[in-house]
Amino acid sequence: MLDNYDVIVIGAGPGGYVAAIRCAQLGLKTACIDNQVNPQGEPSLGGTCLNVGCIPSKALLDSSEQFYRLMHQFSLHGIRYENAFMDVDAMQERKRGIVNGLTGGISQLFKANGITSVHGFGRLMSRNAVNVLDRSGQVTATLSARDIILAPGSVPVEIPAAPIDREFVVDSTGALEFSRVPRRLGVIGAGVIGLELGSVWNRLGSEVVILEALDEFLSIADHEVAREAKRRFTRQGLDIQLGSRVSKVEYGAEGVILHYARKDVSRTVEVDRVIIAVGRRPATEGLLAADSGVMVDGSGFVEVDENCRTSIRNVWAVGDAVRGPMLAHKGSEEGMAVAERIAGGKAHVDFNCVPWVIYTSPEIAWVGRTERQLKEAGREVSTGSFPFAATGRARAMEEAYGFVKMIADKSTDRLLGVHMIGPHVSELVNECVLAMEFQASSEDLARTIHAHPTLSEAVHEAALAVDKRAIHRAN
Ligand code: FAD
Ligand code: NAD
Repeated sequence: MLDNYDVIVIGAGPGGYVAAIRCAQLGLKTACIDNQVNPQGEPSLGGTCLNVGCIPSKALLDSSEQFYRLMHQFSLHGIRYENAFMDVDAMQERKRGIVNGLTGGISQLFKANGITSVHGFGRLMSRNAVNVLDRSGQVTATLSARDIILAPGSVPVEIPAAPIDREFVVDSTGALEFSRVPRRLGVIGAGVIGLELGSVWNRLGSEVVILEALDEFLSIADHEVAREAKRRFTRQGLDIQLGSRVSKVEYGAEGVILHYARKDVSRTVEVDRVIIAVGRRPATEGLLAADSGVMVDGSGFVEVDENCRTSIRNVWAVGDAVRGPMLAHKGSEEGMAVAERIAGGKAHVDFNCVPWVIYTSPEIAWVGRTERQLKEAGREVSTGSFPFAATGRARAMEEAYGFVKMIADKSTDRLLGVHMIGPHVSELVNECVLAMEFQASSEDLARTIHAHPTLSEAVHEAALAVDKRAIHRAN
């Protein structure tokens, strides 16, 4: 059977499903092939993000944050309680409900937009043909299209020193499924996943040790933000051991013993469960027939130009499987832009304005470049920062911690980066993304009225501080 389409999308994560919907909106006959299944083995659209990534992790982060506040912060508001405990089964059930609702929602959107949803593994055979394979590797269909979008996403990196066994040693997917709170939890990798999932189980009572290979903590973030984050995470009870290299795991009577070296000294730590969170790699194995003509680099990323075009003109690739940050919103923007280009329109993705958020408590968020990156590039900059403790709203919320730091070009005042740690900065950062997208100066933000009392006043004051005229702090 050979079905003909205008566009075939391989992968229904935030890159692929958004591309498919936009193609259909633009009148293109579209099919989307995806092989993700839920724990019951049923097809489940939405990719890593909706099934085992952004959404389930944020559901658990929110449940655990509510619990932590109840135990440690509600009393500050005069709220008294007795005998509170976390029902982990109920927490997990809530998470599954949210995931099912959203993944089912993508199926509905596909139907509403007339997209053909095909369950199976897609393999690009030639510039216009894709085979669909079932789990045993048998070809069940061959589809053809004028344009093809590759959006296979990514999978966790494994390390030989600590192989995943899905019970004691797990990846991020396993760490979202614990049915009880581990008494002692080891996390390998102090990156985004290690910090977010380490926080979830720490808030629920786990003693958490995080072993990070690098000597510097959170080197992708601004150094002042990273320093404040480390201080607060340590105070919350995360034992972050930098410069640590795991050499092996040994199974003990009650859990596993992690053998690692830190500052050339061999050490061990015994834990009940271990989460491996050392990065992700593109899911491109088996995606391309040997003679497909699409180039991949040495790490498995599909090579694309700035418009997401691969080495074959009508084959495009978006999301985690191509260069750039592995973030859902980055993949979605690429997906939309590719759909517009296929339909003959113009599109624009500003890779300098991709926001990052780490959903710990406090949250961390930024857009643009760090002060160090700018200085290394020889740019002269002005900076201004403002603490949330000096805003009435953060104090009223009992969340008076962290700060906003703004960086502008010294001569033109154009915004080059905004970095924040504190309450709800995942929302506040988007104002700064918009400002940067519109090529605003810090003066533009300084002259914009911000409602009082709100957390966004810290953004306003940081902008004023660039010109040393913040009102509610000494400059
Ligand atoms: P994916 O979401 O990985 O989707 C790819 C889909 O394609 C999958 O369904 C896969 O099964 C399928 N597939 C792969 N190969 C084939 C094939 N050959 N044939 C058919 N189907 C195929 N990002 C954020 O921006 N914010 C967050 O808060 C966030 N939290 C995260 C938390 C965790 C625990 C994890 C693991 C990731 C998180 N991410 C977050 C990252 C985010 O999930 C990814 O950046 C995003 O999902 C990438 O989208 P994608 O469409 O490129 O690929
Ligand atoms: P990461 O790249 O963020 O962090 C991995 C960490 O592991 C790094 O600090 C690295 O130095 C360390 N590491 C690597 N090898 C190690 C080893 N052998 N021993 C000890 N430490 C080691 O990767 P991640 O946390 O796995 O997350 C993967 C990606 O998923 C992220 O980069 C991000 O793009 C995406 N993600 C985003 C969000 C979000 O947007 N909030 C949340 C989760 C995941």
